[in-house]
Amino acid sequence: MDISIGFYGATQFVTGSCFLLNIRGTKILIDCGMFQGLEHDKNYIKFPFDPKDISYLILTHSHVDHCGRIPLLVRKGFKGKIICTKPTSQIAKIMLLDAAKVMREHYKTLYRKSLRKGLDLPPPPLYDEYDVVESFNYFKILVAYDTPLLLENNIKITFKDAGHILGSAFVEIEDLEIHKKIIFSGDLGNKNRPIIRDFAYPSSTDFLCIETTYGDRNHKSFEESKQELLEAILDTFDRGGNVLIPSFALERAQEIIYILREFYEEGKLPRCHVFLDSPLAIKATRIFKDNPEFYDEETFHIFVKKDPFDFPYLIFTEDVEESKGINNVKSGAIIIAGNGMLTGGRILHHLKNNLWRPECSLVFVGFQPKGTLGRHIVDGAQKVHIFGEEIPVRTKVYTINGFSSHAGQNELLEWISHVDKVKKLFLIHGEREKMEIFKKVLEEKFKNKFEEIYIPSFEEEITLA
Ligand SMILES: [Zn+2]
Ligand SMILES: [Zn+2]
Repeated sequence: MDISIGFYGATQFVTGSCFLLNIRGTKILIDCGMFQGLEHDKNYIKFPFDPKDISYLILTHSHVDHCGRIPLLVRKGFKGKIICTKPTSQIAKIMLLDAAKVMREHYKTLYRKSLRKGLDLPPPPLYDEYDVVESFNYFKILVAYDTPLLLENNIKITFKDAGHILGSAFVEIEDLEIHKKIIFSGDLGNKNRPIIRDFAYPSSTDFLCIETTYGDRNHKSFEESKQELLEAILDTFDRGGNVLIPSFALERAQEIIYILREFYEEGKLPRCHVFLDSPLAIKATRIFKDNPEFYDEETFHIFVKKDPFDFPYLIFTEDVEESKGINNVKSGAIIIAGNGMLTGGRILHHLKNNLWRPECSLVFVGFQPKGTLGRHIVDGAQKVHIFGEEIPVRTKVYTINGFSSHAGQNELLEWISHVDKVKKLFLIHGEREKMEIFKKVLEEKFKNKFEEIYIPSFEEEITLA
């Protein structure tokens, strides 16, 4: 057995990305993400390998579903080298610290509740801030795109731009001894978005693992979505209310600021206050400012002249008192706060203050998974519970779909059209039904490109060569 692969996450579901490649005895982990939503309990399953044996961890990007279990891996004995781009390393660190904090607070709440109700105590958090800081010691190799790196045992790796979030990559791994190549797509981006470049294309390969998050459909265009956002803002200000935008701290928040700056410069945005009310999003924005070499051409040209993430109406509210002060603003404010799915964070305070006011708007710019408060409101809930209080939903609710940072079906097809014959194509990072749809499309569109298209199961191990 010369090359084998273990699928230890993001199989027939989206979260927990984790793949173990064994190339002639050298063990390389690709991502070590947290399981989220319905898969959350899998975080407590023992790693099906010994973390001590891993030589390298290749990190494709800094989303928690790709990096979220790194501190746990280190706690369990990982002593290898983490390889990623500079922004990935910087953003992963703030995301992991935030994850530890959220887990600690969540645990405290659950613990008290269980004691009160005489229930079984919750499992302790996966790791704490000390584990996170300890894991920083292993972020040892920062790579640039398109720059091959030789690892031990004659293995070559190349990071290429995945166009998904700042610093995101897909990775090509080549065994120079037996001349076999495998590519991991990481998460691929939606094209024509601001700030970052569109994805690069893969070279020919023997094996390929491709994400299929949106393998079943296409997104609305970005331009159309921008227009929808502008209309929502103008309409709300006409009604004399505030605009609430729940947003992920990373990428989406920076995109919204970037777009609002454009509206401002084009004279389309009336005088208003734009609050970025999320310490994590503020930190992420600083990292964006620090990495102009990862911008697309347009953003870079702006950067040469000025800050692409600033304009006179923008206010960063980092501390809690400033954040509370926003409560006094009854109209003419755009409030961007986390988290994006309304399952926690400062956005809940703003909802409590604004959700019952018909002159205000709640604008969703990201996907709302089943079971979240965000989804509940999108589905038309008349009233919701926030901090134990029943609040009627009277705001106007907008759902804008075109801001996705994931490739839609057409983009996945375009990306994959660039490889020649592939021995085995693995579909990962998607829900089973979507994978089946995508598989059918691939079979119809590319008759002889793939010898086999395979959907691996959780913890399945396969010998490649
Ligand atoms: Zn991602
Ligand atoms: Zn992902």
